[in-house]
Amino acid sequence: MNMNIFSRRCYNSSIALSLLCLVALPVGFASGQTQVEPETALRMLNAQQQQFAKGIVKVADNVFTAVGFHGANTTMIVGTDGVIIVDTLFGPTSAGKAADAFREYSDQPVKAIIYSHSHGDHIGGGSAFAGDDHPDIYATESFGSAEGVNKAVDPVKAKRNVRQFGRNLSASEITNRGVAPAGTEDGDRGKGFLPPTITVPGEGLKTTIAGVEIEFHVAPGETDDAMFIWLPKQKVLLAGDNFYSSFPNLYAIRGTAYRDVLSWSESVGKMAELEPHVVVPGHTMPIQGQEAATTALKDYSEAIRSVYDQTVRGINAGKGPDQLAHEVKLPGNLSDKPYLIEFYGSVPHAVRAIYVGLLGWYDGNPTTLNPFEPKVKAKKMAELAGGTSALVAKMQDALAKEDFQWALELSDHVKWLDDADAELARKVKITALRGLAAKEYNAPNRNYYLSYANELESGELSELWF
Ligand SMILES: [Zn+2]
Repeated sequence: MNMNIFSRRCYNSSIALSLLCLVALPVGFASGQTQVEPETALRMLNAQQQQFAKGIVKVADNVFTAVGFHGANTTMIVGTDGVIIVDTLFGPTSAGKAADAFREYSDQPVKAIIYSHSHGDHIGGGSAFAGDDHPDIYATESFGSAEGVNKAVDPVKAKRNVRQFGRNLSASEITNRGVAPAGTEDGDRGKGFLPPTITVPGEGLKTTIAGVEIEFHVAPGETDDAMFIWLPKQKVLLAGDNFYSSFPNLYAIRGTAYRDVLSWSESVGKMAELEPHVVVPGHTMPIQGQEAATTALKDYSEAIRSVYDQTVRGINAGKGPDQLAHEVKLPGNLSDKPYLIEFYGSVPHAVRAIYVGLLGWYDGNPTTLNPFEPKVKAKKMAELAGGTSALVAKMQDALAKEDFQWALELSDHVKWLDDADAELARKVKITALRGLAAKEYNAPNRNYYLSYANELESGELSELWF
């Protein structure tokens, strides 16, 4: 069955920046929800590019957001006798360029720096903003908890990070990172980091800095140490990474501990209750206008909650993660929202993360308590196919039919068979990965497929990794 059916609908983005085209139905042998015709995938990713076009966006009379200077955003709030910086990008090089751009709007000293959370793309460039000033540095009590976990597996996380973000892809292969541009300046990671000096307690904090009334709301989501910033006078909300223009990355394929999905939904719900006139995301363009901003936050909270609730209902109905990853969908009233297209996060990956986060790896089916090791399974698959050469033929047939997922799965069996051509299996896998990548508008999936294909081709991956 090769449907090649897709219906495309174009929506005027609520931020009036671009037309984002949403594909309602996947094509061909799509195994994921974010696979469409290659030209469509590319067009969608190119349109999303406008979400991080470099420039300063004035979001209120005294609030300026620098978009596209690195992966994340940084914001300057201008007070009476100084400025406040919210998030500091990745390192001093990119931060220095944003600081220069901000100086066009104010050259007052930096009184405070605020970290929305501890991810590297938000905290590495403080020194470039602070210069000779000695600002107070605000962060939550649990600041750093996101980076501290799972250190034991840092070596493999580093490899997967490179793949998810497509850091080694060539110019012709790379598109973007879903909510961030590709090709950011990364050599000075963290070199401008200034450690926090003021801790925001769990119940939050209301204060005045440089004459600006400001509220800190602790809001776990993408990380446990996250908070959002509220300017009650201007009704500007700085969301950190709990909101950006894409379905949220409830799980990151680079490998992360469980992100508390339910808290994430609740945190965004609290933002919506404030009915901001502007929401400034941690990445992508600010959304301006009370109705647009509030609706976006409500929808976002509801989308996360819906995926969580559907998954929990499915689990309690006895369904396993493989089935649920294909069944759970965004509700119809949300699936066409431009800020919920799965450019970065993915619903099926979120479902799997929720499953494992709530129950661990075991799916409850006794068959999976003690499955065969890969080599034994491969031999049995070959027997089932009518011998190794028959299994190899099936693998090649799947590739010829552009049934890329099946080609991948069969190549993973073939590679374990002593009497098969392992080099052929490797080649099939490389071609199938590139075929799948072309169809993906989910940037992490696309980047991961392409990066892995390149690593296989170059011989960088050992037998074990293959
Ligand atoms: Zn970020």
